Amino acid sequence: ESSWQGFLPDERATEALGGWLAQRVRPGDVLLLYGDLGAGKTTLVRGLARSLGYEGRVTSPTFTLVHEYEGSLSLYHFDLYRLDDPEEVWDIGWSDYLRGDGVLCVEWPERLDHLLPEEALTIRLTRDDSATADEGRRVELIGRGEKPLALVKELET
Ligand code: ADP
Ligand code: MG
Repeated sequence: ESSWQGFLPDERATEALGGWLAQRVRPGDVLLLYGDLGAGKTTLVRGLARSLGYEGRVTSPTFTLVHEYEGSLSLYHFDLYRLDDPEEVWDIGWSDYLRGDGVLCVEWPERLDHLLPEEALTIRLTRDDSATADEGRRVELIGRGEKPLALVKELET
């Protein structure tokens, strides 16, 4: 496990981090997005999807749990905020997505508990409690597994 911390001064910086990831992700990669409501998780996925050439709307799939975006890669965008029991994830075809041909982005991955995949890039977004809404976000990337580790190492240099 290896980690990197940075600061995203505004929304565009969050989208740009998504763009950076877009140049590096491959089918099968899993990005776990942690952070409170309004932390910028969906903003990062939007930047990623746009950079993969997807031109439609990118919003949190809070009620449907998953949105699919087709660009130069398939992107599967989960928001598991409303998942009560981790096992419910099988009902939305989680195993097919994991085995599938796309990149997985998961908001509220903590809902998966023991079902979290072992190899993944964790992205943690936080804003200072003191801050008046839009003073930027802290970001931490944590890699577990060979490929995610390599991504974090690249940021360190
Ligand atoms: P989440 O999906 O985590 O609930 P969103 O991506 O919907 O959060 O973002 C919530 C708000 O935060 C949006 O208005 C977005 O413009 C803003 N935002 C995103 N990144 C930043 C940033 N680095 N600095 C300031 N505001 C940001
Ligand atoms: Mg969201």
